[in-house]
Amino acid sequence: MPELPDVQVYKEYLDATSLHQRIAGVDVRRDEVLGEVSARSLQQRLTGRALELTRRHGKHLLVRVSDQGWLAFHFGMTAYPDYSSAKDPPEHTRVLFRFDNGFHLAYVSQRMIGKVDWTDDPGEFITQQRLGVDALDDALDAKRFRELIGRKRGSIKSALMNQETIAGLGNIYTDEILFQAGVHPRAAASDIDPPTLTEIHRQMQRVLRSAIKARAQPERMPKGFLTPHRGADDAACPRCGKPLEKLKVSGRTAYFCPKCQTKE
Ligand SMILES: [Zn+2]
Repeated sequence: MPELPDVQVYKEYLDATSLHQRIAGVDVRRDEVLGEVSARSLQQRLTGRALELTRRHGKHLLVRVSDQGWLAFHFGMTAYPDYSSAKDPPEHTRVLFRFDNGFHLAYVSQRMIGKVDWTDDPGEFITQQRLGVDALDDALDAKRFRELIGRKRGSIKSALMNQETIAGLGNIYTDEILFQAGVHPRAAASDIDPPTLTEIHRQMQRVLRSAIKARAQPERMPKGFLTPHRGADDAACPRCGKPLEKLKVSGRTAYFCPKCQTKE
């Protein structure tokens, strides 16, 4: 599922491919992926205009359309952008933005859980979607992080995954952050002492920056990271070699090392 690092990679991909070109037209192939906006309205707003700049907030990607407003993409479980001049865009292309130069940007979403939407104002969109501060926002320093997370009910893992508190973290990177910090995923958020919360904050920044640098590819993560190992049935801890264990947190499968993650 695309989390902050994946969406940052998509942002950089759009920046490198899709900006400042006249849009020839928009084909909405499946209305189900549209949020509040209609296909007709998208076509009217975009045709003849250009994508000007991108902005990421948590797992959302906002793209400014000249003189109009902003496209808002969410990538659900498996969606991604694809820019090419191929005659046929990828299978499961749901919206196709066609440029004058013969290239197109496809919003590809097999499961159609993500959304393509429209907003006049990013701040308003973030409020409407009830998104918390972006996990890599400078405003989210250790003090603010401790205030936000330390008062949450439930486990530390669910607290970190709650988009209304901090936007951008999902199942995979919260596992990594807690592994790096040595904290058990089921530890009660409100019971964690301030120095440990500070360490979780530090690891959150480190893990997210490492993942962006690795282009969100698990196999390119630095040595000693959990991400490349989680998922396999016989997965072993990259630190101590003990078998990783699984448990369910908020309906998601968390991987953790029972020996390395003892802090509660
Ligand atoms: Zn271990």
